[in-house]
Amino acid sequence: MEHDLVLEGRVVTPGGVIDSEVGVTDGLIREVGRGLNGSKKVSARGCLIFPGFVDIHVHLREPGWERKEDFRTGSAAAVHGGVTTVADMPNNPSPTDNPEALARKAELSRKALIDVKFHGGISRSRPEALAKIADGVVGYKLYMSETTGAAAFAGGDMERVLKLVASTGKPLSVHCEDQAVLDRVKGAETHSEARPPEAEVAAVRKVLGSRGGEIPVINICHASTSETLRLVSEARGNGMKVRCEATLHHLFFSGRSVSGNRLLTTNPPIRGDSDREAMLSGLKEGKVDFLVTDHAPHLEEEKSELGVAGVPGLDDFSHVVSWLVRGQGVDPVRIASAASSSPAAHLGLVDRGVIRPGMRADITVVDMHSPQVVKNEDVKSRCGWSPYEGREFPGRARWVMSRGELLMEDFEQVA
Ligand SMILES: [Zn+2]
Repeated sequence: MEHDLVLEGRVVTPGGVIDSEVGVTDGLIREVGRGLNGSKKVSARGCLIFPGFVDIHVHLREPGWERKEDFRTGSAAAVHGGVTTVADMPNNPSPTDNPEALARKAELSRKALIDVKFHGGISRSRPEALAKIADGVVGYKLYMSETTGAAAFAGGDMERVLKLVASTGKPLSVHCEDQAVLDRVKGAETHSEARPPEAEVAAVRKVLGSRGGEIPVINICHASTSETLRLVSEARGNGMKVRCEATLHHLFFSGRSVSGNRLLTTNPPIRGDSDREAMLSGLKEGKVDFLVTDHAPHLEEEKSELGVAGVPGLDDFSHVVSWLVRGQGVDPVRIASAASSSPAAHLGLVDRGVIRPGMRADITVVDMHSPQVVKNEDVKSRCGWSPYEGREFPGRARWVMSRGELLMEDFEQVA
């Protein structure tokens, strides 16, 4: 058959990287093999052809904080980084914990350039209301400590929340920092001291220690300590359905390189060298399930003057991937698992995440040999800055396709 488009390059499949071609027609991958015919041919020889990246942890800020980001600008940042599906978090000023808020968000997200999914919030006063939005969300989010926006749940009746989420069949993402530990170290001099590894570990223990009754599939958000990874592996060994994320910034930065840099203030904080190395090893060994940005755009002045927590990341997804592969020796097959197939499967998106006939043509081609210095002026996120500013990466996204439509062509973002 003659395809709409044929891509040629090094295709990253679950079984390994193969020199091949991918035939795309009507928004779907139709063929993977040699000698394919297409009305348009893209030669990406030497580049890695990944299934489009799926980021299960982003904050696109709309509605309420459009000065930082909206669905259009946030999705443009995603395309820039090679991300073709995102799952947005519910902690807006008016949280996504009821059908009206969810419907409004879905409507607003229609201007996005890529596919946007939603996490549901859990109302502190009426957790049972979470069942009403089950059909419109890919999962729920639980906070174990106080957070921005009202979508906080400080862990009060956790067992009940776990049971309610389990009954929806959706997974639960948990922000693990224990409020009791945070209260104990209140007034600490630095942000890292005020949010110590013990806070994360205590919250993870609490979640993984839940017994009795039903427990949903649990995702430990932004795991950042070696002990978190150990606890997750142990719980998995005991048959618990638990997974964990690593953020790009926790893999890339460590304490010494960031001390005093308020732009890098984030929760949980950037950790020390040994935790960062444990997270990198965990990614290589398959202990880290999901590569995420926790894209949290704030304006630079909010960061420098108020020290608000959170860093943007979508613009730099493929930059960091190129560093992981070329600089850290991470197998591209592991990247495709943590950045595409595992997150897609976790969210129940069975139509994407792998390059295989019949799947949605969501594809990200990364040129691993096209060095680039990150500049704030290139950032598509409305926040207008990157935590990686001034850093050189070995490669970046070169072609990005969502449902067969090219959103980036030979480094040029066309949408
Ligand atoms: Zn987050």
